[in-house]
Amino acid sequence: MKKIGIYVHVPFCVRKCFYCDFLSFPAGEKERERYVSGLLREINKESARYGKYEVESVFLGGGTPTVLSGGQIGRIMDGLRAGFSFGEEAEITIEANPGTVDIEKLESCRRAGINRISIGAQSLDDGELALLGRVHSAKDFLEAYGLAGKAGFRNVNVDIMAALPGQNPESYLNGLKRVIDLGPAHISAYSLMVEEGTPFYEWYGEDGKRKDGIVTHLPSALPSALPTEEEEREMYERTGEILEAGGYYRYEISNYARPGYECRHNIRYWRRGDYAGFGLGASSMVENVRWKNSADMGNYLCCMEEGSGDIKEERCVLSIGDQMEEFMFLGLRMSEGVGKKDFYNAFGKSLEDVYGEIIEKLCAQGLLTDGDSVRLTPYGRDISNYVMAEFLQ
Ligand code: SF4
Repeated sequence: MKKIGIYVHVPFCVRKCFYCDFLSFPAGEKERERYVSGLLREINKESARYGKYEVESVFLGGGTPTVLSGGQIGRIMDGLRAGFSFGEEAEITIEANPGTVDIEKLESCRRAGINRISIGAQSLDDGELALLGRVHSAKDFLEAYGLAGKAGFRNVNVDIMAALPGQNPESYLNGLKRVIDLGPAHISAYSLMVEEGTPFYEWYGEDGKRKDGIVTHLPSALPSALPTEEEEREMYERTGEILEAGGYYRYEISNYARPGYECRHNIRYWRRGDYAGFGLGASSMVENVRWKNSADMGNYLCCMEEGSGDIKEERCVLSIGDQMEEFMFLGLRMSEGVGKKDFYNAFGKSLEDVYGEIIEKLCAQGLLTDGDSVRLTPYGRDISNYVMAEFLQ
């Protein structure tokens, strides 16, 4: 049977964080229930197309899926199991934020077959968390982490962020070490990105300097500037060193795992495996066709409740050129890089024939290494956006 991953989007959060540009917003109990019913209709209607697939991974993401009740999460999992055939070892992840979980909810998740949890700590400093607009404290995170273990989760990811306002390499690395001391199976360590349309963008703009005199009502605790590029680089480099010394290995630019605990669902994205997305704004890619669900809640619910209309937008059949580009820029994110045999098996052409000149140039610049596979060097990882762009024709 062919393998597939499933992504389910839950767009609800307690409150919007100041840096967030994800499709997420607060909602009341009624709206959440209406959404879950719509989602179940979508899963029920669409699952018929996937009879030849076996589910290898599920990712309940958001938003904050744990804003839903244990019962609602259980119904979503029941809906998926009713419509799809699951592999015995399927990895089933839920994203959870501290402050939205208790032991009953976590035990409901375990009973529903969820075997991996990704907890959004982001920082272990209450001042930094407040500046980010997070709804939780460091203590809430530690509590949530402890409860996840108590509920039986052995495969736990912790998300942590670098380059936050007011952070310096020392304070960041102290937080990271405290996370390592907890011993999660997986750690995702990302740098803050200041995205357009967020309060952070308004407060700091593109140059990372506090916009006094331009923007009124700036939070008084907001530091005058974001960490410098040098500080950010130091945080990034030390993250790798400290995590590797702690028994984690970097298998992707920002992701570290103990052996055997790499996130299979995300590897599916980076290796261009098929995945089906359900819910508001969810993306799918199946057999080289991409599409995205409508991000308009009114439209989504109307289509689901009336059983008419189409929520699929931006449908695009990927050309061979598109597929090759993706194969390169997604594959290079992985530490194993892009295998030459894998490229040949996927496209019936050698990597050298298609990208020989580009690879040669990037190797000469010290950005790639070339062997049975092509990989980013540490310098290439530092400026990976430039390297990836070279593969876009
Ligand atoms: S919890 Fe995550 S998805 Fe929700 S607002 Fe904050 S950053 Fe965005």
